[in-house]
Amino acid sequence: MAGESDMAETTTLSCAQCGKPAHLQCPKCVELKLPREGAAFCTQDCFKASWVSHKSVHLKAKLSSFGPGTPGEQNSAAPDDDWLYCLKKGQTRTPKHPLFDWTGTLRPYPISKKRIIPAHIDQPDWAMDGIPKEEPNSDLQHVVEIKTTEQIERMRETCRIAREVLDAAARVIRVGVTTDEIDEVVHEATIAAGGYPSPLNYHFFPKSCCTSVNEIICHGIPDARKLEDGDIVNVDVTVYYKGVHGDLNETFFVGNVDEASRRLVQCTYECLEKAIAIVKPGVRFREIGEVINRHASMSGLSVVKSYCGHGIGELFHCAPNIPHYGRNKAVGVMKAGQTFTIEPMINAGVWRDRMWPDGWTAVTADGKRSAQFEHTLLVTGTGVEVLTARLPTSPKVFPWLNS
Ligand SMILES: [Zn+2]
Ligand SMILES: [Zn+2]
Repeated sequence: MAGESDMAETTTLSCAQCGKPAHLQCPKCVELKLPREGAAFCTQDCFKASWVSHKSVHLKAKLSSFGPGTPGEQNSAAPDDDWLYCLKKGQTRTPKHPLFDWTGTLRPYPISKKRIIPAHIDQPDWAMDGIPKEEPNSDLQHVVEIKTTEQIERMRETCRIAREVLDAAARVIRVGVTTDEIDEVVHEATIAAGGYPSPLNYHFFPKSCCTSVNEIICHGIPDARKLEDGDIVNVDVTVYYKGVHGDLNETFFVGNVDEASRRLVQCTYECLEKAIAIVKPGVRFREIGEVINRHASMSGLSVVKSYCGHGIGELFHCAPNIPHYGRNKAVGVMKAGQTFTIEPMINAGVWRDRMWPDGWTAVTADGKRSAQFEHTLLVTGTGVEVLTARLPTSPKVFPWLNS
């Protein structure tokens, strides 16, 4: 039996900043398998204080092992001028790896430069300066709009485009593809259809879709990280076309995914299906959360509370607010002509979320995985029309739908 004191004796390192006994290792050095001497620190403060000089160790290691590659070539690539880490809701970018009490094994990677929108594309009012102007002050934040047949026809067209864009993204998902490459597909497919990718510059969001891997609940930012065998990744697409938005998302499997994750994703899909099944005029919005909570908790899974479904149309986000959890206080009943999303986020562990330093990425508090599915819906006279429904051409990526 090995003695504990012997272990401590041989592994004690001193802080690279102040020289005191050190118990923390630079995570980047661990990742790059660099010597532990010179990469140990006594506190986060010493780690931060030494960061500017210490980080050059990472870059040197990289250049000597790979040559000066671009990020995206390997999952440990160093940032360069075009690829920087996102901070503060996309308003700041930095070459420094952000420091955070990460909840799981996933880390942010550098993001690419802002993608270009051709001049002929009609843009929402946040496209230029990152600030939505009409949306926050609109009456439609309090009143649920009943759409006209003309508005509904435009919603159908836009939602159909959004579906085709998501399907294009689904077709490129495999081991080794970066989430930035998924974003490029979404961006190009949206523009090719004559639409604007609504997330781009919405409250300064830096990319054209959200890509949420493993423990990311939602609003993950596409970056230089390559998808790995066993990952799950949600792609959330919103298209702005003919003055209205269409919004949907799905969670995809990358390579061979473990049984627990496959169950999580299928259960989340079922939660959305069961919620859609109750939609018709006269049903209370708060019932949606009851249905989802019942199905998730039956499988030992939990429901995220911080992010909700939303009204949608000429505005990206408006009334009604649609919680997905049980015993919620949502007010109002459904009426024909309303359009809104249902987008349950279901966690393998605890329901609680945390926010990464980028101000967008919501992760599970315990680092366990999270899945999500979303549709844009229209309440009809007798029930519901799924405006973002799968098409006969949609890739067959969900085993429970095949047969
Ligand atoms: Zn969405
Ligand atoms: Zn949404």
